[in-house]
Amino acid sequence: MNTPAGSYADERLRATLVVRNIGQLVTVAQRPIADAMGRLGVIERGALAAADGTILWVGRADGLDAAVDTAGAANVDAGGQVVTPGLVDSHTHLIFAGDRAAEFHLRHQGVSYADLLAQGYGILATVRATRQADAATLHELGRARLLAMRAHGTTTVEAKTGYGLDRRTEDTCLRVMAELSREPGLPRVVPTFLGAHAVPLEYRDRRDAYIEAIIEEMLPAFVGRARFCDVFCEAGAFTVDESRRILARAKDLGYRLKLHANQLGPSGGAALAAEMGAISADHLDHASDAELEALRAAGVVGTLLPGCSFALRLPYPSARRLRAHGLTVALASDFNPGTSYSENLQIMLALALSAMEMTLDEALAAVTINGARALALADEVGSLEPGKRCDAVIWRMRDYREFGYHFGVNLVERVIIGGMLV
Ligand SMILES: [Zn+2]
Repeated sequence: MNTPAGSYADERLRATLVVRNIGQLVTVAQRPIADAMGRLGVIERGALAAADGTILWVGRADGLDAAVDTAGAANVDAGGQVVTPGLVDSHTHLIFAGDRAAEFHLRHQGVSYADLLAQGYGILATVRATRQADAATLHELGRARLLAMRAHGTTTVEAKTGYGLDRRTEDTCLRVMAELSREPGLPRVVPTFLGAHAVPLEYRDRRDAYIEAIIEEMLPAFVGRARFCDVFCEAGAFTVDESRRILARAKDLGYRLKLHANQLGPSGGAALAAEMGAISADHLDHASDAELEALRAAGVVGTLLPGCSFALRLPYPSARRLRAHGLTVALASDFNPGTSYSENLQIMLALALSAMEMTLDEALAAVTINGARALALADEVGSLEPGKRCDAVIWRMRDYREFGYHFGVNLVERVIIGGMLV
């Protein structure tokens, strides 16, 4: 017997949470769902049921009671507003101490990056502050940032190390991420090891020795504790050959791969991401047509980070270009203290609409299902479909076309994480 996806009418499911009175349920469903319309799978007058953190059923509200036993379930009234999947921020540098506000304003006054480095600013300033902070401090800082992200609708957060750059501090940062990920009600944290973020000061004149330390000490030590290995492949950071050595070792050890590629110039990182079979290549401001073609052929997600263009006063990358090459495009915050200090994906969506030639449907997919694809988690999060984790946002709007149009304020009404209203 064929059971249409999303309506299991033969046997009623028992829900522990029901969201009723949804004006527009934007499912972003990847499989056909009854009554869902358009690429985003919008259901007018919808409802959603979950049990034990997993979505049981989505559909039109008038079909709920026939499909789902809701006696004893917690009821949430969405007030006729919009509900979407929880947002997926697939690129952040969550754990660090200190701030670089002074650097931000000096840069805007025209001080060059070389002069800023000479004055002690840049990534290594954050490394200094992070090494000096204890684990409890890093935990509290990370927790506050996750709460800010959650308040803006984000329920899954990729988090990179890379402000320790020694085994002890990188280890501490991964431990803090694991602790935060276990705390109920916080966004899920997906850890990435980014030891190759910069060459630390103590290795300044022997960068090969630092790469050896990554390959021989850190990568083996962190197996199973970081889902991804990432490298900052850029002039002034790591070359293509250095990045390849690190990523090859990581791949052998079972890490999945990401790459900071072609942000500030044609670094060759995008071609390397395709060659190595990375899950995502991030930035891509200066990727060539041939590189974009290689990324598409290799199934690599292209992740765009407009917060950097905003903070660095650089041209925005064109999403239309990536789309023309057939790439799957994700949008992320790149939350970090130097070049994109924002926890708010709603702003990134608005920038994508105004400055990056993205349509609303593309941008919403880019902060939900495509963010999940950039984390190899599309089976678990990024859309509202039976079997997926119940991460959802109730938005203060009756028409989802308010995204990007109503900007600069937080439009979140309530957030549901793992079937829990938080
Ligand atoms: Zn980054």
